[in-house]
Amino acid sequence: MALIRAQVAIVGGGMVGLALACSIAQRGRSVVVIEKSPAAKQIPEALQLRVSALNLAVQGWLERMNVWQRLPAERLGTYHAMNVWDRDQGGRIYFSAAEADQTHLGTLIENAVVEGALWQHAEELGVKFITGAEITAVEQHEHDVELKLAGVEGEPTVLAQLLVAADGGRSQLRQLAALPVSFKDYEQMGVVATLRTEIEHQGIARQAFLPGGPLALLPMADPNLISVVWSAPSLEANALVALDQVAFEQAITAHSDSCLGYLTLVSERQAFPLRAQYAEQWVKGRLVLVGDAAHTIHPLAGQGANLGLGDAYVLAEHLNELGTLQGQWDPAQLQRALKRYERARKTAALRHLATMEGFHQLFRAQHPLLRVARATGLNLTNKSSAAKRFFLEQANAF
Ligand SMILES: Cc1cc2nc3c(=O)[nH]c(=O)nc-3n(C[C@H](O)[C@H](O)[C@H](O)COP(=O)(O)OP(=O)(O)OC[C@H]3O[C@@H](n4cnc5c(N)ncnc54)[C@H](O)[C@@H]3O)c2cc1C
Repeated sequence: MALIRAQVAIVGGGMVGLALACSIAQRGRSVVVIEKSPAAKQIPEALQLRVSALNLAVQGWLERMNVWQRLPAERLGTYHAMNVWDRDQGGRIYFSAAEADQTHLGTLIENAVVEGALWQHAEELGVKFITGAEITAVEQHEHDVELKLAGVEGEPTVLAQLLVAADGGRSQLRQLAALPVSFKDYEQMGVVATLRTEIEHQGIARQAFLPGGPLALLPMADPNLISVVWSAPSLEANALVALDQVAFEQAITAHSDSCLGYLTLVSERQAFPLRAQYAEQWVKGRLVLVGDAAHTIHPLAGQGANLGLGDAYVLAEHLNELGTLQGQWDPAQLQRALKRYERARKTAALRHLATMEGFHQLFRAQHPLLRVARATGLNLTNKSSAAKRFFLEQANAF
C-alpha cells in the first residue's frame, strides 16, 4: 500500500480547491489534491455552459499568483456596466465601472477555463494530483489526518497535517465528519444556457426581475454571445427546458424585453436546483471547509465562486502566517489559525446569505405596497451615487 505524505491534502479540484492549492504551494508547502474526476483538467477548446462572474478582488488575487495571465483573452467576458430592472413595476438601476473609478466591474468566464488554468499552474508549482479516487475513510490523529483512497492504483493512503474539504455543495468530507448544515430549498431552479444576441451586448450585464425569479443575461467575450441564468419555480424551469427551441427563444426574448433583440439558442439547456446551504461548523480538528462545501448561495448576484475563492484566499493567508518546525505546524497555532479563518469567513458568508435572502423575498413579494416600494427603492438607489458606490464595493470584495 502506497503512503503519500503532504502538509496539506485538498479534496476537490474545483476553482476553490485549486486556487488554494496554488497559493499554499507557492509558499513552498507540499500539497496533494484529490479529485474524483478521472483526468487532469485542461482549458477546453469548446465553449462551456457553466460560467462565473469573477469580481475584481478575485482577479487581483489570480493576477498576483500569475494565474489570470494564463486565461485566454478570447474567453474573458469583461463587463463594465450592469443594468437591473423590475419588469413588474418598472424600477431600474444602472451601475457603471466609472461610478466606482474602475475600468470594469468583473469578468464572465467559463468555470472550466479557470479550472484548467489553475490545474496547469498547480502542476508547475509541484502540487501532486490524485484523480479518479474515491475516499473510503478519514481518521484524525494527534499529529496528522489519514485518508484512505480506493479506485486508483495501489489504493494509497494520504497522511497530511491539514485536510481541506473543497468538494462542493454535496461535500462527502463534511458528511463523513457529521458537520451540521442549515438548508433552505428555494424550490426554484436556475436554467442555464448560451444564446446569440441580435444586438451586441456592449459589455453590459443585464438582469430582469420577473415574478418567478431573476433572468440574468451575462455578456461573454464574443460581443454577440450571452450566458443566461433564468431562475424560476421548479415546475416553470422544467417546462422552460422542455420547450422546443423556437418557443424557448421566443419566451426568453419576450421576458428580456427584447433588450438584445431576438435571442438564438446555441447550447443545450440545463436546470440546476437553487438552494442556500450553510455549514454551522467549518472546522473539526484538522478538517476545514471551503467554498461550496461550507456554503452555497442563490446565484442571483453571481457571488458563489467569488465567496468561495475569498475563503481560499483568507485560509491561505492565515496558513502562510504560521511558521513551521521542520515542516510541522504547531498544533495549537494551527487550531488558532483555523478558528480565525472560520470566524472571518462565516461572517462574510452570512452577510451574503442574508443579502440574497432579502433580495429573494423582496422580488418574490406580491403585496402591492411591497411591489411599489421595490420599484421606488431601485429608482432612488439609481439616483444615489453613494449607495451605488457602496453596492459596487461590496460586490468587489472578498
Ligand atoms: C446556476 C448557477 C449559476 C452560478 N453562477 C455564478 C456566477 O455567475 N458567479 C459566481 O461567483 N458563482 C456562480 N455560481 C456558483 C459557483 O458555480 C460555485 O459557487 C462554485 O463553482 C463553487 O466552487 P467549488 O470549487 O467550491 O465547488 P465545485 O465547483 O462544485 O467543485 C468541487 C470539486 O470537487 C470534486 N469532488 C466532489 N466530490 C468529491 C469527492 N468525494 N472526492 C474528490 N473530489 C470530489 C468535484 O468533481 C469538483 O471538481 C453559480 C451556481 C449555479 C448553480
